Amino acid sequence: MTIIEDQQAQYLIKSLQHHPSPYLILTKEAGVEWMNKSAQYVFDTTEISDIDIAPIVSHGASKKIEAIGSSFQSDLELSLRKIKFFLRSRIHEIPLDKEDSFFLIEVLAQSEAALSALKNTIACLENDRIDMAYQKQYDLQTGNLASVETLLRLKDEKGEIIPNNELIPLVEGESLFSLVVLASMQKLKDIFLFKKEKNLDFTVFLNVSAYTAMQENFCKLILDFVEENDLNPGDLGLEITETAELEDRARAAKYFEKLKEHGIPLALDDFGAGYSSLSYLRDLPITLVKLDKDFSQTVSEEDTQELVRFVVTICKNMELGMLAEGIETKEQEDTFTKLGCQKGQGFFHHRPQFLDDFKKEFE
Ligand code: C2E
Ligand code: MG
Ligand code: MG
Repeated sequence: MTIIEDQQAQYLIKSLQHHPSPYLILTKEAGVEWMNKSAQYVFDTTEISDIDIAPIVSHGASKKIEAIGSSFQSDLELSLRKIKFFLRSRIHEIPLDKEDSFFLIEVLAQSEAALSALKNTIACLENDRIDMAYQKQYDLQTGNLASVETLLRLKDEKGEIIPNNELIPLVEGESLFSLVVLASMQKLKDIFLFKKEKNLDFTVFLNVSAYTAMQENFCKLILDFVEENDLNPGDLGLEITETAELEDRARAAKYFEKLKEHGIPLALDDFGAGYSSLSYLRDLPITLVKLDKDFSQTVSEEDTQELVRFVVTICKNMELGMLAEGIETKEQEDTFTKLGCQKGQGFFHHRPQFLDDFKKEFE
């Protein structure tokens, strides 16, 4: 008899079928026996044979199955058609009659939006709908190209771009996101080839979240990439975002110091907004401060100008580069230049372009 034929399990299945969280039932031999509607939605499958879950090592030393099953949180290793990844989950060990038991797995996600972000990320990875757009950063005095920022572009099944701000914050804490980082780095290879071919000299900045930067293998991943693609110092740079998660600052500083020694500059993104704080300027080997784009929207106001002057002064004194993001008008550009800001970026000067169109601008 399979688990799902068991009467007790039948009740469970009935009550969980339409539960908003994804649930799966797994045998002790790690075969998926059932999943609810929400799991079918996230994994985009009704075929349980499409999913494979690595055997679960049950916590708790006791082999005896208690009347109330034990539960524990674990990263579940999952293989889904073309990709393999870990997902945060709560695993409940449910006792069946006498000696037997099975696992009920709840995939952990904070909200409906997080589930949909998970689904979209999985679909983009499986269907190679991951691309990069490139936006110029320029010298405000001369208008010359200074560097380029790469921006992730994930597309839905209709080819429409999924807004980064709606997806990235919800999935960047998942280990699944490291697959997105790897896929985006594959795409980056082409811009470095183009740079070499045309003998162009600018830094290409990749956005990395604090979660990604703190991964064990992050440094090696970047250094291997530099070596494999035969990059020169200053070819690749990193923009660090959402520093809220940089809990172990000393460790982060060590990673970035090592990368800096290998010619990879670090920019502090969205400075002045959210969690990004002044002390990062002291603790991390930053070379460029990027003022958050909110400042551009209000830069005509005296108070904002005062704040910009303050940041300009800090950057000058600490010998850091400074860039104003989100410049949309000539007036904003002029004001930042007047306030002593060194570099700029925004739709007024250049809109993010996919590589083919970006290349055309150098013809
Ligand atoms: P960010 O790094 O601060 O990137 C700047 C965002 O502002 C980009 O949005 C860019 O398209 C947009 N932008 C540029 N100029 C203007 C302007 O003049 N006006 C306005 N209103 N917006 C402008 P995007 O591409 O949607 O990215 C949003 C955020 O997603 C990024 O903010 C970054 O935090 C994150 N992100 C983007 N690409 C990646 C990536 O490859 N990896 C990671 N981890 N995060 C990424
Ligand atoms: Mg950025
Ligand atoms: Mg920014």
